Amino acid sequence: MKARDLMGRGIVGGPARQRGREEQHGMPIKNGLVVAEDSVVVDGLVPQFRSFLGFLAAVFQTLFGFSMVITSGLDGVHAYNSLHKVGRAVDIRTKDLTPVEQVVLMCIVAYLSGKTAIAAFDERNVAPGQHLHLEWHGA
Ligand SMILES: [Zn+2]
Repeated sequence: MKARDLMGRGIVGGPARQRGREEQHGMPIKNGLVVAEDSVVVDGLVPQFRSFLGFLAAVFQTLFGFSMVITSGLDGVHAYNSLHKVGRAVDIRTKDLTPVEQVVLMCIVAYLSGKTAIAAFDERNVAPGQHLHLEWHGA
């Protein structure tokens, strides 16, 4: 099915968008969220944070035409005192987005951080897994 923008027009996909679609086919879904691989742990997220991520995933899908992918939750190696370990942080894949789409996502998250308990770290330049780190600082 051809992707459509919000006005119902066909979207001309660039290489990044096409790569994202291909890689998403058959990706695991855990706790209602699309994850990059089976080793990603999203069970145990703080409930309010999980709800926020569902909302953000719906916005992401609507805007970009494919699923938001979580590359790390409670799994993985993170900094000492990382909120990942306590279900209050996830990493969102950014490599599937074009540079303009990345800016759109960053703006949405920055806007929402003034209305919710979200904090975001731009780690798009952090190899090997370029991502947006989201933290929950609410109840
Ligand atoms: Zn992180």
